[in-house]
Amino acid sequence: MITRTGLIIGVTELEEKGRFLRVLCEDGIFEIYVRGAKKATSKNNPGTEIFCYSKICATQGKNGYVLDSTEVLRQFYNIRLDLKKLALANFFAEVITSNGIGIGDERDETLKLFLLCLHYLNKDDNERSLSVIKSAFELRYSCEIGFIPKLLGCDECHKYDGDLSFVIESGKLLCGVHNPHGMGTPVDNTLLHAIRFICLSDLKKICDFKINKNDEKKLSDISQSYLTYHTERHYKAVEYYNRLN
Ligand SMILES: [Zn+2]
Repeated sequence: MITRTGLIIGVTELEEKGRFLRVLCEDGIFEIYVRGAKKATSKNNPGTEIFCYSKICATQGKNGYVLDSTEVLRQFYNIRLDLKKLALANFFAEVITSNGIGIGDERDETLKLFLLCLHYLNKDDNERSLSVIKSAFELRYSCEIGFIPKLLGCDECHKYDGDLSFVIESGKLLCGVHNPHGMGTPVDNTLLHAIRFICLSDLKKICDFKINKNDEKKLSDISQSYLTYHTERHYKAVEYYNRLN
């Protein structure tokens, strides 16, 4: 028997036969089979819904893990009531399912990052826009899986702020002097501060920056392009999310 604490990031219904859960844990993504989960009487039902953070007990069966019991630790109930929030959470799940969890000592950060983003999505105060939460996820997740941009300053002369552009493909900053062909996206100090904040600060603080609407849009373009380019994938769920806006 194994006991794991994890977030349900995928549910595949098997008609009356049960469901498969994809569970994001600190040390990896696990698939767990749930017998007859659709039956209202099933004692396992509550902790097996999408985006439930649950304590899960399972047994190793012939074809993988079979669920024994669950205990719900946290439900992000508001997300399921809002189409855009749900679409965004589904996008995060698709990205992590496609690319896995972080590397090296930071492997557990992927679960923490997803839980943090769900926590912000679940709040009703609108203090952080969906666009900022999405950008924070895209850039920080890219860092967690090894694509850390070089943000200290111009890659050639180390100029720290002012006239700088961010190049998606190399993840580098270049100043006007060292970028004669105008590569990348010009980033003003506010936008650069936001990018540095997301990538370099303590995980808990990655959404705690102020940004105006104009820079928020630029940040969104940069973060989405950066994730898509470096993971070499297009995500169906993000197309759906973008259509809702
Ligand atoms: Zn330079």
